[in-house]
Amino acid sequence: MIVCKFGGTSIQDADALMRLAKIIEARRDLQPVVVSSAMGNTTNKLLDIARTAASGRQQHALDLLAELQESHLREAQKLGIATSEDRVSQEIHTYLDEMRDLVKGLAALGELTPRVSDAMASFGERLSTVIITQVLENQGIPAQLMDARKCIITNDNFVNAVPLSDETEEAILKHLLPVIRENKVPVFQGFIGSTRDGVTTTIGRGGSDHSASLVGAALNAEEILIWTDVDGIMTTDPRMVPEARRIKEISFNEAAELAYFGARVLHPATILPAVRKKVSVRVLNSTKPDQEGTIITDETRYCENPVKAIAYKKGITVMNVTSTRMLMAYGFLKRIFEIFDHYKVPVDVVATSEVSVSLTVDETSALWDIVTELKKVGDVNVDGSKAIVCCVGDNLRNTPGVAHTIFSALQDVNIQMISQGASSINITFVIDEDRLPEAVRGLHDSLFREIDPRIFE
Ligand code: ADP
Ligand code: ASP
Ligand code: MG
Repeated sequence: MIVCKFGGTSIQDADALMRLAKIIEARRDLQPVVVSSAMGNTTNKLLDIARTAASGRQQHALDLLAELQESHLREAQKLGIATSEDRVSQEIHTYLDEMRDLVKGLAALGELTPRVSDAMASFGERLSTVIITQVLENQGIPAQLMDARKCIITNDNFVNAVPLSDETEEAILKHLLPVIRENKVPVFQGFIGSTRDGVTTTIGRGGSDHSASLVGAALNAEEILIWTDVDGIMTTDPRMVPEARRIKEISFNEAAELAYFGARVLHPATILPAVRKKVSVRVLNSTKPDQEGTIITDETRYCENPVKAIAYKKGITVMNVTSTRMLMAYGFLKRIFEIFDHYKVPVDVVATSEVSVSLTVDETSALWDIVTELKKVGDVNVDGSKAIVCCVGDNLRNTPGVAHTIFSALQDVNIQMISQGASSINITFVIDEDRLPEAVRGLHDSLFREIDPRIFE
């Protein structure tokens, strides 16, 4: 069995849907399972509609919903489906009725709860998979629409719900195996799940990769194929550096680190279930299905370039906490971390000195509550509009002089914090956000002027 996950751009219109059908057709013998995102930018649009409705602009929200309906029907109709009263058009209309009810409810209440936000967002994947199932059927590929909410069982932390691994694995096997045995292609929604009580949840933005990984791990699949809009995992985001090179092979650890530090090509949690079961993951371009892409393995291969890729994250806030006593008292760090823990805010980078601690966060919702608490521990200063840059490579730890190469390339950029991760496979630093493009381009130029042809293309 293999799992084929398609991201939003890989199913955004009729042409993309036909490419999907060809990709699946070519892999029929491998017993593929499709895991799909919402079409194009649908999730953003749905969340925008929900916010618009909750702010009282009901008619505007309904108009936006009508546009969304129109675009789904248009692309489906180009493929000869959802034409009149067929099953697809009925399903789309039923979903749209439910969404209109949600919009009216939101407008009446004037408040958008995380629970309703998830209910709304779930329609993106539910709509796309109805269409995909029919596209496959029309191409002569027997397919069956699944309900991921019966399989991905999560806690009730709406918007960022956490899948419960044992229950999820059991439910995936129960629902998917019979369909696969009948030689049908199951079509499964990424991103969505439900609580034990059956309330719809979502597992975090970009979460379809995670869904694919959970399905692949539960089925003990041979491979998980992440079909996206770039040639694979690249040496950095090609949107920032068009000269970025494709990485042919990367380790799970490196990929996890890159994902965590902002390389959107893979969702951070994707890697874990697959790593545990040693299922290999490949990232491929859905517009060039014959290319090799990037394979993620659990092996570490020697690479002449100590840095394999550069990731970055914008919108970072640095918090500096200085102990009000002369020296860092025992328990100072513990008290600080307990505060972040209490507000469930993850800290990405930490640097300490004798009397102070600097930490970075990329979530600012609880910022001022955290600052109020931190002030009980020491003096606090908050610095926004920062960016984290992270250079990742398994061979970093064995290569002397890499830090020199990295920081020489950044001579004109003020570096605020530096940290070499405990795993020793990354060197991470914090700079002003407005210097990010220049820093990443300069760094990429200096680190990848020459490349190891076994690892990069
Ligand atoms: P999908 O909708 O297929 O899940 P995403 O937009 O989530 O696609 O991820 C693909 C995008 O990730 C690319 O278009 C690219 O801009 C971005 N990206 C960031 N860092 C990298 C990287 N190192 N390699 C490849 N793509 C990257
Ligand atoms: N559609 C969801 C999102 O936009 C999940 C995904 O694409 O992975 O976040
Ligand atoms: Mg994605």
